This record gives sequence, structure tokens and C-alpha cells, in this order.
Amino acid sequence: MSTDIERLNCLIIGSGPAGYTAAIYAARADLKPVMYTGLEPGGQLTTTTDVENFPGYPNGIGGPEMMEEFKAQAERFGTDVRFGMATEVVFSEEVGGWHKVVIDGSKSIEARTLIIATGATAKYLGLESEKRLMGSGVSACAVCDGFFYKGLDVAIVGGGDTAAEEATYLAKLCNKVHMIVRRDELRASKAMQNRVFNTANIEVHWNSSTVEVLGESVVEGIRIENNETKAQTTLDVSGFFVAIGHKPNTDIFKGQLEMNEVGYLDTHGKSSKTIKPGVFACGDAMDPHYRQAVTAAGSGCMAALDAERYLAELES
Ligand code: FAD
Ligand code: NAP
Repeated sequence: MSTDIERLNCLIIGSGPAGYTAAIYAARADLKPVMYTGLEPGGQLTTTTDVENFPGYPNGIGGPEMMEEFKAQAERFGTDVRFGMATEVVFSEEVGGWHKVVIDGSKSIEARTLIIATGATAKYLGLESEKRLMGSGVSACAVCDGFFYKGLDVAIVGGGDTAAEEATYLAKLCNKVHMIVRRDELRASKAMQNRVFNTANIEVHWNSSTVEVLGESVVEGIRIENNETKAQTTLDVSGFFVAIGHKPNTDIFKGQLEMNEVGYLDTHGKSSKTIKPGVFACGDAMDPHYRQAVTAAGSGCMAALDAERYLAELES
């Protein structure tokens, strides 16, 4: 490991909408932020096609293109954007203390404020056909992409609250929603189950697994298998939504920051503050509820403002 330790006022970990918005605010407040992008520069939106619900783009914009614009705006005000992964952290307990971060297992950094914007990763089934048609009919976000399937038939896999909520959301837009559930019951709460069962155009396929997503360049259907009888059925659908859970990218903070049982970071009240002084969390890494680009960006703004105020108080 390098013995040279770089000291920073503000270090941002993660380069999605939350990280870049934090960077724009921190840079304009002259905190001279350094950002490490992680392995997915630009974050989750680089895995999608059109983003139609981010304000300011009346004609929509491609996800990767939008994230290039976020980056350009952050760099315009002096954010130092670097490729690299935070692999280890040791937080200071002291107000004004230095938080230690190791990048890629070798470079050591100490920062007075740390903004965690490491996001979350949607879980997928792991099928080759699912990967190939990602963004071409396969999506992990019904609220984001449901609109593209207005009036069409779609399928959604999962039996939890997210799947139930997204199935009812899709049912309002689509002609028919096939819900693929691997057991003979839903994990979702009773209230959410009732919403599913009371929606006429949702058909639940119990004890079923998706074997293949069909289509060459866009989704044209799925093949499902009954787990008990092994009988296979083809469903003609144009969209395939995966709603089997998300995993927040917070493993490196385990044992040091408070998080819920799945790993979403806890923040204090309406702020971005964590239990460590000078450490702030924003975006999908701390938000199990909304998980949208605009909410991630909003919380990134909050984290930068909280960091700025923290540093200002240290100096006063
Ligand atoms: P992310 O975008 O998840 O970014 C996390 C960043 O952290 C990445 O850059 C990653 O490389 C980095 N990182 C992780 N770990 C480390 C580490 N240890 N060190 C350094 N960096 C690290 N939302 C919408 O509002 N509209 C849409 O149309 C829309 N479409 C979507 C389509 C898909 C297919 C998906 C999956 C999501 C979509 N979303 C959409 C949701 C949206 O992408 C997320 O809510 C948003 O990206 C969250 O932003 P974030 O900055 O918190 O994290
Ligand atoms: P979840 O509760 O973990 O449910 C995941 C679902 O996906 C389960 O039904 C699971 O099946 C299924 N699944 C997992 N892996 C699968 C696979 N490989 N193939 C097929 N199915 C698979 O996740 P979630 O629904 O995203 O919810 C996460 C948390 O957020 C929960 O605490 C939930 O209550 C909460 N939430 C609440 C609301 C609300 O209250 N409005 C809305 C959304 C989320 P099994 O059941 O067989 O394991």
C-alpha cells in the first residue's frame, strides 16, 4: 500500500445522480471535492435507454448521455473525478477528525467530510437472455419504464411488496400484467396482496419460474415453467420487469454505520447525516422507498449542503 496519504476536505464515493449532484454543490461551495466513480461510472442510469421523468428534459434523454451531462456539470465547477473503487474505510469518531478511505486496495486518502453515494444494485435472475435484452424490454424499474408499454402486455417477476406495487402500477398502463411468482403465495403484505388480487388485468402464475426471455433484439415473450409439473408455457409480452429486490452497495460500511437488515444506510431525521461526524449518505444507498434519479439527486444536494455546514462550523 502507498504510504503517501492525500488529505481532502470532501470526498464523494459514487458517480450516480446522487454523487454528481453532491459534487456540483460541493464544488460550487469551494469544497474542492474529489469523486471516485466506482466500477460503474454514471451509475444505474448507464444501464438504461431513455429517461423520460427527469425534469428539464422535455423530450427525454438517454441514460448514459444524461450522466455525461451530470459529469460535465460537476467538472465545470472543478470536481476532480477519478476512476476507482473505495475498498476500505475507517471512520473517525471525532468531530473534525479525518476519515480514512483506501482506494482500489492501495491508495490512502483522508477526508474531513465523506459523502456516500454508492447506490444500489437491482437483482436480476441471471438468465443469458435477460442480460442480452436489458434495456430492450427487460427492466428492473416499472415506474421508470412502464410508460413505454402503454396498452401492451407485460410480465413481472417477484412476489414481494415491490413486485406487487409495480404490478398494480403497470396494470394501470398496460393491457395485461402477468405476475410470475416462484412459490404458491406472495411475500408481499396483505394489503398489497389484496391490491393485486383485486386488479382484474393482473394474472398471477403461481409456482412458476422464468426459463427464457424471448426475442432477438427486443422482448417478444417469455417462457415460464411450472416448478411442480415442469410444464412450460409461452407468454406473449413486450416488457419483462424484474422485481426481486435490490442490494444497496454498502458492504464496506458494515459494522461502522447504522443500516437496516438489507443494508440501506440510516440517516438522521430529514438530514443526510450518519452516526459518524462528517459522514453523509445520499441516493439509493440510503433510500429503500423512492429509488429515482431525481430523489437521488435531491438527497445528493442535501449531503453537500450538510457537508458544507459541517466544515463551516469547524472553522467558526
Ligand atoms: P447509482 O446510480 O446506483 O450509482 C452508484 C454509484 O456508486 C456508481 O457510480 C457506482 O460505480 C458507485 N459505487 C458503488 N460502490 C462504490 C465504491 N465502493 N467505491 C466507489 N464507487 C462506488 N430512475 C429514474 O428516475 N428514471 C428512470 O427512467 C430510471 N430508469 C432506470 C432504469 C434501470 C434499468 C434502473 C436499474 C434504474 C432506473 N432508475 C431510474 C433508478 C435510478 O437509476 C436510481 O434511482 C439512481 O441511479 C440512483 O442514483 P444513486 O446516485 O444513488 O446511485
Ligand atoms: P423482497 O421482500 O426481498 O421480495 C423479493 C421477492 O422476489 C420475493 O417474493 C422472492 O420470492 C422473489 N425472488 C427473489 N429471488 C427470486 C428469483 N431468483 N426468482 C424469482 N423470484 C425471486 O424485496 P422487495 O419486494 O423489493 O421489498 C424489499 C423491502 O421493501 C421489503 O421489506 C418490502 O416490504 C419493502 N417494500 C415495501 C413497500 C410498501 O410497503 N409499499 C413497497 C416496496 C417495498 P420468495 O418470496 O419466494 O423469497
